[in-house]
Amino acid sequence: MSEQRVAVVSGASRGIGREIALQLASAGNAVAVVATKVENTVGTVEAIRAAGGVAQGFGCDVSNSADATATIEAITSELGAPAILINNAGITRDTLMLRMDDDAWNRVIAVNLTGAYNMTKACLKGMMKARWGRIVNISSVIGLHGGAGQANYAAAKAGLVGLTLSTAKEVGSRGITANVIAPGFIETDMTSDLPEAMIESVVKTAPVGRLGTPGDVAPIVCFLASDLASYMTGQVISVDGGLYL
Ligand code: NAD
Repeated sequence: MSEQRVAVVSGASRGIGREIALQLASAGNAVAVVATKVENTVGTVEAIRAAGGVAQGFGCDVSNSADATATIEAITSELGAPAILINNAGITRDTLMLRMDDDAWNRVIAVNLTGAYNMTKACLKGMMKARWGRIVNISSVIGLHGGAGQANYAAAKAGLVGLTLSTAKEVGSRGITANVIAPGFIETDMTSDLPEAMIESVVKTAPVGRLGTPGDVAPIVCFLASDLASYMTGQVISVDGGLYL
């Protein structure tokens, strides 16, 4: 087996991030499970260890650049320099623009977009030194198509595409790729209180006829994070059951 790589997954306490962490671990990577509070990482870390994998939990608010830098330093000294970074942490503060306050705008941009920038910047030096790296940013169909009541979230998720394209151009020659996954509607805590009518409309519109699950998203992320995807960079991959065909 080749040397174990260190994979960082933000927002890995639950939902899509947890499944990505589990699958990256079963693919043989040592996983740094990152969530806002370290105590929230315990479930994911224990599940990985129970399956024979290597994992450690780290608490970090990705929107805070000093916290992001310190967390990547701690991961580097405890597990090794990150070779794989999955920027998955995200929040919603949905409301129509006329009712949106500055805090709802600023917080969503800070976590969903600046958070990915902070974590990427903190990981890049190590990846450049190793001349190998994989960055996968989790955007959303909303970032590609917009969403009423989601100006902050759509702007942050669209911003992730620009961040990814620039990253791909800056560091491609160093063996580092950067790609975007844009999930559709995935069954997690984030979508648990969506109105029934909206869920019905997604199920009706998507050719596959159902909502997605974290298990639909994680394998694509794992592929992009592997050696198999070394000639693929700056791409936006929709995992949405064909919702916007
Ligand atoms: P979730 O609410 O279940 O999990 C979000 C995770 O992000 C949690 O682990 C939380 O602790 C973490 N997080 C939040 N703020 C953080 C911060 N400041 N610093 C560090 N971690 C933080 O959400 P999910 O549905 O699993 O979504 C995961 C990602 O996928 C998000 O970026 C979301 O925008 C995106 N996404 C989700 C869907 C969906 O339908 N669920 C669709 C498209 C995109």
